[in-house]
Amino acid sequence: MNFSLAIHGGAGTLRPEDFPEALAREARAHLHAALSAGAEVLKQDGSSLLAVEAAVKVLEDSPHFNAGHGAVFTHEATIELDASIMDGATLAAGAIAGVQHVKNPITLAREVMLRSQHVFLVGAGAEAFAKTCGVEMVEASYFHTERRLRELRAVQALEASGAKRFGTLEASDLKLPDKKFGTVGAVACDRAGHLAAATSTGGLTNKRWGRVGDCPIIGAGTYADDATCAVSATGHGEYFIRACVASDIAARMRYAGVGLEAAAHAVVNGTLVQLGGKGGIIAVDAKGNITLPFNTNGMYRGALREGEAAFVSIYRDD
Ligand code: ASP
Repeated sequence: MNFSLAIHGGAGTLRPEDFPEALAREARAHLHAALSAGAEVLKQDGSSLLAVEAAVKVLEDSPHFNAGHGAVFTHEATIELDASIMDGATLAAGAIAGVQHVKNPITLAREVMLRSQHVFLVGAGAEAFAKTCGVEMVEASYFHTERRLRELRAVQALEASGAKRFGTLEASDLKLPDKKFGTVGAVACDRAGHLAAATSTGGLTNKRWGRVGDCPIIGAGTYADDATCAVSATGHGEYFIRACVASDIAARMRYAGVGLEAAAHAVVNGTLVQLGGKGGIIAVDAKGNITLPFNTNGMYRGALREGEAAFVSIYRDD
């Protein structure tokens, strides 16, 4: 069968009027590069698992997205990265949270899945495991970008001014070009009909006390099961955890016989909206259908089906 691949680079208040065109152009180019990296694997009859990792790595290496190199800062101006990956053929999964020196957290999540007897490793332990696998480690300074520092200072100024909501970036709160939730992710269906999902993030700007969002939580930010779908989420993680977003979409398909698009729409524009959770998801089923719903103004996203042209967009009406 033909393969399918979808990616995201975060959802949020993304409107053309407050987004410099040069930044948008570069972000689109990096989304295209991520699609190409994943498609290259799938074209060689590689697995969906390797394809989602390849696509996410490109986004982790880009300064435009909140993951890997472009990750946002914690309250203490440090970096704490979370990631997870799941193989729909076997339901094997790997996840990590709170790592500070791993260049590509998604690769470490894959190593956890394949080489440890565990699913979820955190902090110093996850980094110790990373060293045993030969995963590339970097100095903390690799993640320090001026843009993210400006965002942290802006959020902290808002916090100091007594604003109630300071953990999430919104256009109304911040006068910054890049006001969005941020996370990157990929889902794929390979030529054998196997599904996989991968998600990676720096979390929320100004997060503290070891906060972990939905991204590394299997069933919340990431899920894959050949019998239903593969899902990767982005948005306000606290809500996505409580709504079990990714596994709820799969469960609606499995138990209620709902199709991919209807199941995803019900969770993103139904359950999440009722709870007050902003964000979106990308998902693919074993027939290669793709859906990319979000309940924010925009979501960095892209998709590709074998034999068809790739598309990439940012805003709602792109
Ligand atoms: N979901 C991520 C988190 O809550 C952030 C995001 O997608 O913007 O950590």
